Formats: sequence, structure tokens, C-alpha cells
Amino acid sequence: MKPTIYFDNNATTPVAPEALEAMLPYLKEYFFNPGAMYDQAGIPSKAIEDARQSVAELLGGVDPNEIIFTGSATEGNNQSVFGSIQARPQRKHIITTAVEHPSIMNVCKEAQRRGCEVDFIGVDRQGNINMTEFIKALRPDTLLVSIMHANNETGVVFPIEELARITKETDAGILFHTDATQSLGKLKIDLAGNLKNVDLLTFSGHKLYAPKGVGGLFMRKGTPCRPYIYGGHQERGRRAGTQNVGHIVALGKACELALQEGCRAGEASPEYQRLKSMRDRLENALVEQIPHVRVNGREAPRLPNTLNLACEYIEGEGILYQLNEYGICASSGSACTSGSLDPSHVLTAMQIPFTAMHGSVRFSLGRYTTEEDVDKLIEVFPEIVKNLRKLSPYWDESTDTPREGELIVEHK
Ligand code: PMP
Repeated sequence: MKPTIYFDNNATTPVAPEALEAMLPYLKEYFFNPGAMYDQAGIPSKAIEDARQSVAELLGGVDPNEIIFTGSATEGNNQSVFGSIQARPQRKHIITTAVEHPSIMNVCKEAQRRGCEVDFIGVDRQGNINMTEFIKALRPDTLLVSIMHANNETGVVFPIEELARITKETDAGILFHTDATQSLGKLKIDLAGNLKNVDLLTFSGHKLYAPKGVGGLFMRKGTPCRPYIYGGHQERGRRAGTQNVGHIVALGKACELALQEGCRAGEASPEYQRLKSMRDRLENALVEQIPHVRVNGREAPRLPNTLNLACEYIEGEGILYQLNEYGICASSGSACTSGSLDPSHVLTAMQIPFTAMHGSVRFSLGRYTTEEDVDKLIEVFPEIVKNLRKLSPYWDESTDTPREGELIVEHK
């Protein structure tokens, strides 16, 4: 087996050993149904409430009752959109962006099929949201604004505080939802402070060093949002289904670890700075050594761990294949869209040129990324690009420059 050099933390993170250790007793001796009446059930039931407390603290010290455990961020996103529609069907307008994760994008497209009007707000070439377009889009019948906190492909961070404030100043009745799946644990999220205008916030365990298949939804008290999954009275009747106790415990532990790392301090936290300095070292080395590369979203506020690099005139899939030979894990597009050859909707919305969009790869660092990992990537990557360009129809090997002209077809 070749060694694993992991640069795909935006797709999923490894489970923290502390989180794994915390969850195991709930799969073994404390397997009881947390809703049962006997004493033993009190152990998993209390563990769920302790985890809820840890999540509530990470989100800024909100009321733990405002946290609903879900099976994924995808579920939390579905719940937010469809639950809002169910609660107030008379409002028929939703605002989102052109760069959301498919679990909002496709949910909003389904809402359109069910009779809602949806505005997909555009972004500029750096990935920043078009504020003018956003403000213009707010209407008297707007039900919901759903705008992600940080983009999974580029790491570009949207000004959620400002967007939520403008929304509420326009009409306090409009709900504001944010998908914070990529930002929780990396950026400061204070739902009792600067993000007090956010009504709904989605997150996921497996981007935060907890397992896959568990997530959460913050739903501010009094938010008009109906359940998405009906059945038993778990989660105070807001999300039916016996809770995944072990995974919830691991998520609680993961939140404690993020707190200990200082993530409530945002940019001032040592872990934020560590990730950013490794990412910047990687970015600067690759940009310096490889001609015709561009960093997508470089001028925008970005997550400290994400590098989306466009290597012009070659294919992202070819790059990933070559990286794989060294055991280096990375992505082109998002984990959900890679595997399809369609160009990323995020980079398309940013109007990245055709030849750059197809050669874009994402490196995402995490808690367990080391300086040695970065060294290895810097060592092998320039050579990979050089070799792939030799095979590219867009590249002139004799002059070692791009072959401009008739071969370049702009993506429609
Ligand atoms: N939103 C964003 C921004 C994401 O990056 C992801 C995962 N790629 C999701 C939602 C979906 O998360 P989950 O896998 O928990 O459904």
C-alpha cells in the first residue's frame, strides 16, 4: 500500500481519535434506545443532551434546545427549505446563490418545480456575491434566503452577518438560512452575537472530525419551519427517528475539540494560523514554480485550508490520476460533482475561462495535515503538470507555451 497523503478535507475529514473513543461505548454496552423508560436508557439519553450542549457552545452559547440532530447536512438543508415552505406556503419566493452545494441547489430547483420562484444570485470572478443583485432580489413575498457561509470548492467566504442583517432590515419575516458545513470549526460562528439574525444553520459531522451520517441544524426558537421527517417524537417532534447515539456523541466531542483548538477566536486561533500558513506556503510555491496557473478566489476572503488551483491547458481528472500514483488525495470540483465531466457550476458562475476551469484541482488541508505532506506535494506537483501539458492539444511542446487559437472553445 502506498502512503496516504491527504489533501481532501473539504470532502471529508478523518474521525478524531477522541471522537471515536467517545462514541464506542454507545455502540457496545450503552446500546439502549434513548427513548426507552428504564434506567439504562438514561445513559444514552443523557449523552445526547451533553452533545447538544457542546454543539450549542460551539455555536456561540445558544440554547441547546435550538439544536436538532440530523443524519447529514444534506438533510438539514432539505429540512430548512422544505420546512420553511410548508410553514408559510403563501410566501413563494426564495433567494439563494449560483454557487451553493447541490444539497441546496437541487432542493431549490425542486422548490421551483413545486411552484416557488427562486433567484440564484451570481458572483464575481473572485467568487464574491453580487450584493446589488442580492438587495434587488428581496421582495415582499420572499420566504427564505439561503446562502452558504463558505464555499466547499473554492473556500470563498460570504459575508453572512451583513447578508442576514440586510435581510432582516428589509423584512423581519424573511427567514435567513446558512449552510455552514465548511466553516464550522474553522471560522468564528456566534449565533448569539454577530450572527444573531441567522434563523437556520446547517452543519455536518464529517467535515469536523466526527463520522459521516450525522449532522445538525440550528433552528432559532420561534422559527416558522415544519418538520421534514415525520414519525416519533424524537428531537422534540422536530426530527423523527431513533437518534444515532454514538455518532451524536462523536459530534459533541468533535465540537469540544474545535472549541479547545480555539475556533471561536476565528482568525486569531493558532489552528487557523497553522492551516493558513501551510496553505499559503503550498500556494506560493506552486504559483511560483508552475507557469499558467491561477488561484481561484485568491482575492476574496477564503477559508484558511482551501486552495483551488487552475492549471491551464490540462484536465483536472488527469492531474488527480497522477497524484493518485503518489498516494495524494485531492479533488476536482466537489466530492459530489467529481466523477461527472461537467465543469463545476461554481467555477462556471465565476466565469473562469474554459481552459482553466477544466484544469482546476482543490487541495484542502486539515488538522492532521503536516508540513511534510505539503513538502511532498510541492515536490511532485510541478512535474505532474509539466508532463500532462506535453500531452495536451492546447500546449505547444516545442516552445513550452500554450498553443493559442482555434482549439480553445469557450464553454457555453
Ligand atoms: N454543504 C456543503 C457546503 C458541503 O460541502 C457538503 C458536503 N460536501 C454538504 C452540504 C453535504 O454534507 P453531508 O455529506 O453531510 O450531507
